[in-house]
Amino acid sequence: MEPENKEAPSDFIRDIVAGDVAEKKYAHIHTRFPPEPNGYLHIGHAKSICLNFGIAREFGGICNLRMDDTNPAKEDVEYVDSIREDVNWLIGGWAEGQLGLKEKGKTPETMASNGSRDFYLPAVAERARGAALEPFYASDYFDQLYDYAEQLIERGRAFVCDLPPEETDEYRRQAKESPWRNRSAEENLDLFRRMKAGEFPDGKRSLRAKIDVASPNVWMRDPLLYRIRHAEHHHTGNRWRIYPMYDFAHCLSDYIEGITHSICTLEFEVHRPLYDWILESLSLPRRLPRQYEFARLSVSYTVMSKRKLLQLVEEGVVAGWDDPRMPTISGIRRRGVPAEALRAFAYNIGITKYNGLTDVAVLEHAVREDLNKRALRRLAVLRPVKVVLTNFPAGKVEEVEAVNNPEEPGAGTRKVPFSRELFIERDDFMEAAPPKFFRLKPGGDARLKYAYIIRCDEVIKGADGGIVELRCTADLDSRTGGATANRKIKGTIHWVSAAHAIDAEVRLYDRLFTEAEPDKDGRDFKSVLNPDSLQVVTAKCEPALKEARPELRYQFERLGYFAPDKDSGEKLIFNRTITMRDAWAKEWQKKG
Ligand code: ATP
Ligand code: MG
Repeated sequence: MEPENKEAPSDFIRDIVAGDVAEKKYAHIHTRFPPEPNGYLHIGHAKSICLNFGIAREFGGICNLRMDDTNPAKEDVEYVDSIREDVNWLIGGWAEGQLGLKEKGKTPETMASNGSRDFYLPAVAERARGAALEPFYASDYFDQLYDYAEQLIERGRAFVCDLPPEETDEYRRQAKESPWRNRSAEENLDLFRRMKAGEFPDGKRSLRAKIDVASPNVWMRDPLLYRIRHAEHHHTGNRWRIYPMYDFAHCLSDYIEGITHSICTLEFEVHRPLYDWILESLSLPRRLPRQYEFARLSVSYTVMSKRKLLQLVEEGVVAGWDDPRMPTISGIRRRGVPAEALRAFAYNIGITKYNGLTDVAVLEHAVREDLNKRALRRLAVLRPVKVVLTNFPAGKVEEVEAVNNPEEPGAGTRKVPFSRELFIERDDFMEAAPPKFFRLKPGGDARLKYAYIIRCDEVIKGADGGIVELRCTADLDSRTGGATANRKIKGTIHWVSAAHAIDAEVRLYDRLFTEAEPDKDGRDFKSVLNPDSLQVVTAKCEPALKEARPELRYQFERLGYFAPDKDSGEKLIFNRTITMRDAWAKEWQKKG
């Protein structure tokens, strides 16, 4: 299950890298993960992180975490911080040694002049010196990028265009040349410097590449390289009045950092000629990075784009970016999914060139498989109903021995108190039970896990008709080793001793949407929200859960996997990470 123990995956990108390694094409393999800090990372980003850091790990290379922060409007330090935390969580202890860090005191310029491995310290070395992890920022290269832009102008490969933004788009759509295309290099340089100096308002002018307006590839039709934005930037403050476009900044940032394999999602395939064109137009001395594309991850029953996730947050549909129902890395983490499970998922789905929808059941499978191995078993009752054992002495307490984790003998056993009054799950009792109902019913037997076989004699109801308690007798010889311990009983149910139970708030999460593709064909994804995606109950828990530790995972026997929430304190709070089995699969079978 754990990627470490599994053979490294093989796919077309790894094949390319392996070929380059065999040919000794590069001194070392250098990848990067370049999020734009305009939202929290989601599970799609996790796929990209595991691919880029995974390759660095498998081929003894380095992977940089780079903030692709060229658009001041939507970016924010809150997002930068969350990205650092999420990446750390996902790769920490796994590919930490691959995380590239710039050496203190080395500027982007000195890095650009060399780009050798010497300028990058693997994160662990840096950590050993007690330094905080500093990611790379594309905005640290703004000076360098500006110089490259001037070089393009001098080479007659870029021009300042006076068309307003909408007209620029329209001209490009119609494959029409800008009337400003043939300005002299001197005039272009002068205007570009004045753009930089802040002389013109937003949208007044732009810098465009001079490529081919008739190109069948619209990205090659004299695309924008710089635009004017009088905006404060989260990292560079008010230094800049012009900001580079993604296509210009990205390939050059890759070059500056000495990236060898620039791996991105398929929609950038059509940008690749531009990526190469910019690099090749500059007579750069070092080996150029190459771009490779793979299919983005889409998972059923959720939406993935940061824009849509932001909408869910802003409109209060969820409690925040790290709401455990969100497909964000922080939400998945808060829900209780271990980083290993997320990495196993990323490895299981593989890397291809075909976009498709990944069934969320694939993720759930990886989570269950992981948690089954690590979770401590505990007894808890989510929707309690009281059981009184009429033949068990009041005030007597027995202790039963319960296994902490059958998957891991080293986890040992614990003692669970047992007494005359217990709670069982309301669902485990049925008054008018069908013949195939093998749990507790009037006149029927059921085994209490780790304890006695009981029979229900009487149902006591309140004035409103609701069940107040179930009066039962225990077969006092039926505990392990007892004379009737081997009686054949079909149903085993869990329980907690009423006098010893502790209360916990339990948040039961389910899928956020009722449709596999919430935003299919432009449908308003908020019209298919699952109204039951969160239910909160007060559970009765065995006393051992009082010591629940945030880093540990628990299986509430028969119910699912649960993790202490970050809000848990005096008052215990658990999030349901996942149920034991896939309830939706049954729904589907019913429907089908
Ligand atoms: P979104 O479209 O969800 O807003 P984005 O592509 O704008 O995401 P970026 O911050 O630009 O987000 O992405 C950083 C990196 O993660 C890019 O290399 C991008 O290709 C990759 N990435 C983004 N979404 C996915 C996904 N769903 N599957 C795989 N990789 C992804
Ligand atoms: Mg993006």
